[in-house]
Amino acid sequence: MTPTKIFGLGGMQEIGKSTLIIEHGNHIFIIDTGIKFCDTFTTGINGSIPDYTYLKDNQDKIEGLFITHGHEDHIGGVPYLVQQVDVKRIFAPRIAIQYLKLKFDNMKIKTKIEFIEIEKDLVATFDDCSVDFWTAQHSIPDAFGIRVSTPNGKLMMTGDFRFDYTPIGNLTDFNRLKEIGDQGLDVLFSDSTNAMRPNHSPSESDILEDIGKYMKEATGKIIITLFASNLTRIKAIIELAAQMGKKVVAFGRSMIDGIDIGTKLGYINVANDIIIDKKAISKYGENELVILTTGSQGEELAGLAKMSYGKHPYVTIKNNDMIIFSSSPIPGNRSKIELLVNRLYKYGAIIKENGVDGYLHTSGHAYMDEHRKIFELTKPKYFMPYHGEYRMSVVHGHTAVESGVNPDNILVAKLGDVYHLVDHKVYLSDEKVYFGPVFIDGNILSKTNANIMKERMELGQNGFLHAIIAINKQKNVILGKPRIVSRGAFFVKNSLHLIEEAKRIIHGAILYVIKNTNDWTVPQLKQLMIDRLAPFFYKNKRRNVVILPTILFTDHHKAKIDDNPELDEFGDLMLEYNLEQELKNHPEKKKEILAKLKEMKSKKVKKSSSKEVIKKERKTSANKTLTESDNKADTKKKVKRVKKEVIVKEDE
Ligand SMILES: [Zn+2]
Ligand SMILES: [Zn+2]
Repeated sequence: MTPTKIFGLGGMQEIGKSTLIIEHGNHIFIIDTGIKFCDTFTTGINGSIPDYTYLKDNQDKIEGLFITHGHEDHIGGVPYLVQQVDVKRIFAPRIAIQYLKLKFDNMKIKTKIEFIEIEKDLVATFDDCSVDFWTAQHSIPDAFGIRVSTPNGKLMMTGDFRFDYTPIGNLTDFNRLKEIGDQGLDVLFSDSTNAMRPNHSPSESDILEDIGKYMKEATGKIIITLFASNLTRIKAIIELAAQMGKKVVAFGRSMIDGIDIGTKLGYINVANDIIIDKKAISKYGENELVILTTGSQGEELAGLAKMSYGKHPYVTIKNNDMIIFSSSPIPGNRSKIELLVNRLYKYGAIIKENGVDGYLHTSGHAYMDEHRKIFELTKPKYFMPYHGEYRMSVVHGHTAVESGVNPDNILVAKLGDVYHLVDHKVYLSDEKVYFGPVFIDGNILSKTNANIMKERMELGQNGFLHAIIAINKQKNVILGKPRIVSRGAFFVKNSLHLIEEAKRIIHGAILYVIKNTNDWTVPQLKQLMIDRLAPFFYKNKRRNVVILPTILFTDHHKAKIDDNPELDEFGDLMLEYNLEQELKNHPEKKKEILAKLKEMKSKKVKKSSSKEVIKKERKTSANKTLTESDNKADTKKKVKRVKKEVIVKEDE
C-alpha cells in the first residue's frame, strides 16, 4: 500500500512555527503553520517560519490548511505560506479566521482562498481520506484537535490544549476523545509544552476568582496586564468589569485587535458603553477604570513600560492604583520584568503578581495528569511529542509509556524526518524534507538561514572592526596607511598602540602578497586580513571581534576623491595620499600643502561639512553634464563617464 507520509516543517523539538504535514497519495493535509518569535533585542529579527519549498513543489496535492486555533505559533506563517504556495482552502475555527483575515488585510494580501469554519461535527472527505475535529480547551476561544484518517490508519493532532473542568470558554469534548480512542488511533501528536509539570493545571475559574478579588479591593484605577492572545481571560475580565460598573480601556495593538474580534463575533458580550475609547478616558473617575494593557513581559515598547516611565499619553500611574500581572515571566524576561515592577512601585502602586499573590495566571497547556488522561482516552498505538523542546518531548514520552504506550512506539521526531505509516505501522524513512527555517527580518524573508542570527549575536557581543586598505593596482603599492574603524569592539583611545600594531600587521601581510605574487585575488586578501587580525585581537583583548575587511582600488592617483560621496568614510585616507603626492609634484606649494595636511591630521576638517561640499560639487558637476547635451543617449554616456572617473571602487 502507498505509505502515508508524516513530517514536521516546524513544531518538532521546539515551541513555535507548528507545521505538521500528512500526505497520502495525492492528498496533502497541512496542520497549522505558525511563527517562532525570536528575542528581537539581540538579533533584530522578528521571528522564523518554515521553508515552504516542499509544499510549493507539491502544491497540486494540497487539500487544505487545517488550523487548530488562532495563536501566532499556529497561524503566524499563513500569510507567508499563501504568498508562496497555492492553498485553495483554509479550515479554521471562527476566531482564527478573523485573525487570519486581519493579517491578510494588514499585509495587503489578496487571495481567493476559501475559508471553511471548523465546527465540532464537520467531516471533510477527500477520496479515501477524511478529516474531523474535537473541541479542545485552550487560552483562546475556539480550539480544536484535528484527526486525519487515511487507509493506513488514523492520526490525531491535539493542538494546544488542557483540561479544565470548570472552564471559562469551551468545554473539552471528552466523549469525542473516547470515541476517537474506541475507533482506533494509530498516531497521536500531543502538546508537550508543560509535559514536565506534575499534577493538573489550575482552573481558569480559580484565576478569575483571584483577579476578581483584587479588582474589588482596588480604590484607584485598575491596570491588568496579560497576553493579548489570551482572549478567553480578556473576555472574562471585561465581563467582571461590567458587573462592577467599570469601564474598560485597552492598550496595545494586539489587545485592541483581539477585543475587536471578540466583540464582533459575540464572544465578548457586554453593553456598548463598557469598552471605551482611550480618548474618552479623562471623562471617567480613576476608580471607574479598568485598563487592559500589553507589556507583561517587560517589553520596552509596550503600554505598561511607557506607563512605568511616565511617558504614556493617556495613563498616569498614581498612588494606590492596582496593577495586576495576570501572567508569568517567560524564561529570559525575568530581569526586565523586575526592573519594570521596581519602576511601577515608585508611583506608590499596589502590585499583584502570580504566585506570591495567588493564582493570577495559568498556562493554556496541559500538565502531566491531563496528559495521562488523554492517553487513557485515545489509547494511541504510536506517540509523537509535538510543540515542546527536546527535554519536554522526552518527559512526555515517559508519561505516554506510564499510560500504556509501547516504549518502542514513542517517536521523538526531528524536523524534516519523514515517517511512513503503512498498514497501522510507523517507520522512519530515509527521506528528508528541507524545513528551513526562514527568518523574517522586518517584512523581508531571509533564507540566509541561521548565519545572520549568528552574525548579529557575535556583533552584539564582540563589536566589529572595519579594516580598510587602498591599493594602487598599476603601481602595485599600498596607498597611505591602512585604516581601522572600531564599532563596539573596544575603546579606541585606550587601544591606540594596539590599532597601530594591527595596521602594521595587515600592511606588511598585504604588501608581501601583492609584491610577491601575480595572481592574488581580492577574497584572498580579505581573508588574509581576517586571518592576521582575528588572532591578534583575540590574543590581546580575548574577544572574537567581527572583522570586516575592505580593499579599495585606485587606478588614477590624481583623481579627486571629493567627487565621490561614497568615499566619505575613506576620504581622509585618500586626501592624505593625494596631498602627499601633490607635495612631491609641486614642491613650490609646500607651505600650503603642509598646512592642509596639518589641518587634516588635527581633525579640524569636520566630516559633516565636507560631506555637504561633496554633495554640492557632485550636484553641480551632474547639472553641468546634463545641460551640456541635448541628446539623451549622449547625456547617459556622459553621466556614465563621470561615474567612471570615480577612482576608487570596492570589490565585493
Ligand atoms: Zn496556543
Ligand atoms: Zn502553541
